[in-house]
Amino acid sequence: MSPLAPGAVIGILGGGQLGRMLALAAAELGFDVHVLTPEQDSPAARVAARSIVADYDDAAALLAFAEAVDVITTEFENVPAAAADALIAAHAIVAPNPRALALAQDRVAEKQLFASLGFETAPFAPIDSRADLHAALARIGAPTILKTRRLGYDGKGQARIAALADADEAFAALAPQPLILEGFCAFERELSIIAARGADGAFGAYDLSENEHGGGILRRTRAPARVSAEIEARARAMAQLLGEALDYVGVFAIEFFLMPDERLIANEMAPRVHNSGHWTQDACAASQFEQHIRAVAGWPLAATTRLCDAEMINLIGDEIDQWRAFAADPDARVHLYGKREARPGRKMGHVTRLIRR
Ligand code: AMP
Repeated sequence: MSPLAPGAVIGILGGGQLGRMLALAAAELGFDVHVLTPEQDSPAARVAARSIVADYDDAAALLAFAEAVDVITTEFENVPAAAADALIAAHAIVAPNPRALALAQDRVAEKQLFASLGFETAPFAPIDSRADLHAALARIGAPTILKTRRLGYDGKGQARIAALADADEAFAALAPQPLILEGFCAFERELSIIAARGADGAFGAYDLSENEHGGGILRRTRAPARVSAEIEARARAMAQLLGEALDYVGVFAIEFFLMPDERLIANEMAPRVHNSGHWTQDACAASQFEQHIRAVAGWPLAATTRLCDAEMINLIGDEIDQWRAFAADPDARVHLYGKREARPGRKMGHVTRLIRR
């Protein structure tokens, strides 16, 4: 792919905060952005040159979108595979490719690919019935987590099974839909890597981040993670392998559990920019958003150099009301998503606190 010249149009499927920050980064490189999203008045649409409000199965809207843009990318992984296929049928360039999207939509396929690449995963089993669940519990042993195979995010669609007696209740809460049972990993810390692969196959990764979740939602990230160079190198090598296996173009994340014996367990991948990479906006030579736009536009990747340490704090629900205090802190950079309503559990913004040494 020859690099897109400034003035070209980047299409983004999805209108959330990730799309908004991608659109802002694209604008800095001289691109226009068109957004297609089912959501009216979305965070991304409000900073884009154009937006189409349509469902992802609206064939006419997809066709018009494909014709108006030079490349199409996604800001969330649950874009239906059929939509990506329809765009490709309309001769659009879609990056990352639909295979990467499909993989991230199915926790079983994702773990199978991880295993085939030699990544350690939690023990797992696909679950379609109560009988499957009991057989898998007998093999894996409690505690475990039952999750929906598809469309889970931010801890939604999950039930802990602390003991065998909890199994039927967990099954009833999540069925009937394809499920996965995972062995519970008593991790020491949660880590993630944000990596990028260019259209030319070049690879770059940011320093590992260390993440704290609450109620399944990311609350706080610190970068760099407090890990050895060996762990850092292992995570980086895994990301490079995954990028190559998927012939990936763009930014992606892998989330890991770091075990007390220093094993790195791959939990999941996200085929997009990631909340645990927001610190790169303020603490790196080029942000994950710029990096993604560069990759999908066929530009060379930028340096992933970290300029200072950083801590990223998500503002969730009414935590948005703390913006005044953060705005008064000279070392805090405030990023707000322009969402009209602060519902509980909704990501409203984030703050990056730069840590000067
Ligand atoms: P996920 O939707 O898979 O990212 O899960 C959300 C969060 O739940 C993770 O970031 C972990 O904190 C926790 N979690 C998920 N799966 C496991 C597991 N197999 N063992 C321990 N904790 C888990």
